[in-house]
Amino acid sequence: MTQNGDLPILPGATLGVLGGGQLGRMFAHAAQRMGYFTAVLDPDADSPAGRVSHHHIHSDYADVDGLARLAGLADAVTTEFENVPAPSLEHLAVARPVSPAASAIAIAQDRIAEKAHFTRCGVPCAPYAVIETAAQLAAIEDHLLPGILKTARLGYDGKGQQRVKTRAELVEAWQASGCVPCVLEKLLPLEFECSVILARGRDGQIVHFPAQRNLHRDGILAVTEVHALNMPKTVAQGAVNSAKSIANGLGYVGVLCVEFFALADGSLVVNEMAPRPHNSGHYTMEACDVSQFELQVRTLAGLPLAPPRQHSPAIMLNLLGDLWFTSGEEKPVSPRWSDVLALPGVHLHLYGKIEPRPGRKMGHLTLTGATLESVRANASQAAQLLG
Ligand code: ADP
Ligand code: MG
Repeated sequence: MTQNGDLPILPGATLGVLGGGQLGRMFAHAAQRMGYFTAVLDPDADSPAGRVSHHHIHSDYADVDGLARLAGLADAVTTEFENVPAPSLEHLAVARPVSPAASAIAIAQDRIAEKAHFTRCGVPCAPYAVIETAAQLAAIEDHLLPGILKTARLGYDGKGQQRVKTRAELVEAWQASGCVPCVLEKLLPLEFECSVILARGRDGQIVHFPAQRNLHRDGILAVTEVHALNMPKTVAQGAVNSAKSIANGLGYVGVLCVEFFALADGSLVVNEMAPRPHNSGHYTMEACDVSQFELQVRTLAGLPLAPPRQHSPAIMLNLLGDLWFTSGEEKPVSPRWSDVLALPGVHLHLYGKIEPRPGRKMGHLTLTGATLESVRANASQAAQLLG
């Protein structure tokens, strides 16, 4: 066990993560490959990361005993999702190095604070208004409609969002949300979506992956494609520069993903950020010489950050629980993995979730290959085989 603040934390030490989902599982895999022990804290007794970790603390995120056990086991602590209570991170930070900091997580978990941060950093977002009171609702200007009403907190994968065309629909939607704090965002005509993942060290050094092009279906990421030819250079560079400003503005330490909307006129607006590795960066495990999860380990441990180099074009296909129900049977049926794995350059990741459910992220496929064309052809075959 190292003393608090004693960096770098070298292999042989134990790295802790709050959250036991698939992102925590892939963090644990990366840490273990480098010779670290891992400890996961998650309220679920049977979590994807808990299953592969050396230690699994089964407790609520705000439970002081659970947090004390984590601090006792781990030499440093990170998080795999943004809805961990910020006070829990503050509590842990008294005893151990914690990254990202509670202050950054607190901003990322509240769309109102997040958009204010983007604006402070000079990065434009979609036109929006805050709705916390009936008076603010009544004062909404017409140009924000049609729009999307998003709850300020706890939204993910399109949950907590309602599309509204008229003022009457807006009023109804806000009431349906329970009149919780929300933002109303103007519905923009998107040319495409992209994201940038970067890692920032304690010394302020930033390394980043290339901008990724993302396709969402029903508010959930479906496909990520990464190749220099799939978006204008100016858009890719603009996204990288904005992501860096946002990370610097937070004094951020750790891996950060920033999502953007590219509009038809070539302009770019920021959508949201995730203070952790991101679904759109899973391809980095096979297509880059350092993955987003290894960079999370390195930033947490205070190790040097290697600038990533992508060595293969890549396409990532998310595997949602729906794929287990394509045969029409009521019981889940495993997708045709043998046929999919017969394709070249296919990398299958399943997260060890026992119960497939529609909309649930069960795993992903990454496809790599010599050319973007060959990767696209294999990805479309894989998608067809999966139904
Ligand atoms: P989540 O936190 O659920 O990922 P997002 O705010 O990223 O929520 O929205 C999910 C998806 O909905 C986006 O990736 C995009 O496809 C669509 N979307 C969100 N906001 C807008 C908008 N203002 N205009 C057009 N599409 C949007
Ligand atoms: Mg999103």
